[in-house]
Amino acid sequence: MLTFFVIAWMTLLKEFQNKLNKSAILYGPKDIRIEDTPMPILNSDEVLIKSTDVSICATEVKYWYYGIPNAPKGTKIIQGHELGGIIEDIGSCQNFEKSMRVAVDPSIWCGICDMCINGISNLCRNLQFMSLPPVDGGFQQFYKVPSKNVHPIPSDIPPDCASMVEPVCVVLNAISDAKKISGSFDDKVIAIVGAGSLGLILTQALRLYGSPRMICVLELLLYRLKMAERFGADVLINPNLDKSIEAIMDVTKGLGADIVFEVSGDFEAYQIASNISKPAGSIIIVGIPVDQDYIPIKSIIARRAGLALKFVRRFNPKDFPQAIELIASGKVNVIDLISHKFPIEEISQAFELLHQHLDNALKVIIHPHQES
Ligand SMILES: [Zn+2]
Ligand SMILES: [Zn+2]
Repeated sequence: MLTFFVIAWMTLLKEFQNKLNKSAILYGPKDIRIEDTPMPILNSDEVLIKSTDVSICATEVKYWYYGIPNAPKGTKIIQGHELGGIIEDIGSCQNFEKSMRVAVDPSIWCGICDMCINGISNLCRNLQFMSLPPVDGGFQQFYKVPSKNVHPIPSDIPPDCASMVEPVCVVLNAISDAKKISGSFDDKVIAIVGAGSLGLILTQALRLYGSPRMICVLELLLYRLKMAERFGADVLINPNLDKSIEAIMDVTKGLGADIVFEVSGDFEAYQIASNISKPAGSIIIVGIPVDQDYIPIKSIIARRAGLALKFVRRFNPKDFPQAIELIASGKVNVIDLISHKFPIEEISQAFELLHQHLDNALKVIIHPHQES
């Protein structure tokens, strides 16, 4: 009899534990707490995702350090928008199967505004984004998303690569925007300011979409500069050691760069981007300067050089299948960008590591289901 009650109690306990959803909640600057949150309840056309791998975006590190911009005091949020997972429950969505591996699009666009109708849902007038209030992100064990946000990935893609699909999408959208204003990359000098994961994906991807004459990468951290070289950069410039403008003018025989991608978000980087551009050149702005409300570019330089500035806003749903193909085929190497992996309980350490650029940190993955 006693055994029966013990077994029944254990079963109930197990069921109760299964219902818990361990989550990393950001309460304020440098204050992440691990708490259990309710399991999501699916509405129609929503899918439940078991969160397997979520990589930390550099912007999230800034939000972790400074707080979420414009968020009222007391706002709590679960970050995480580079999302890999497994379908846990398909609800009423018949076009998926349970246990499918997926990459998840964190943009919640409306589908009915003029931007969405024109295929630029990244500029949706009603856009919400997982990891920014009021929509929680993936640093939790389970979350739900509209089925249109779910992109199946080949089952043989190596672990953790699903979470790298989103940054590849950002790069694809930046490349697409650059081509709209600069035309073909062929025979152009392209400079990339910042060799974080976006800069390193961009370094690899540029030659898949044209034949630039030269790719120059500017980066303060030497270990990242070395990776840029490995991924095909022709000219490496450390703004601490080399004078960026002279270095670019030197290798371009005084002409400057045709296209500059700013992907660092560093406050000083925007003026560097402007200074190294050739007249009639383009600056593609991808980085987000989180601790400032504006970007510093001297108009006297930009105006006299007739520079075109293009701000890139995230990505579009159409970028996902292409990004998945680039990763699956190995045309873009994301595996070697992954420097560290942490269970969710150690997420604060992961943010600290990235914030301080310790131990050659580059892309850090959180595993919400791994025991610490
Ligand atoms: Zn991001
Ligand atoms: Zn819309």
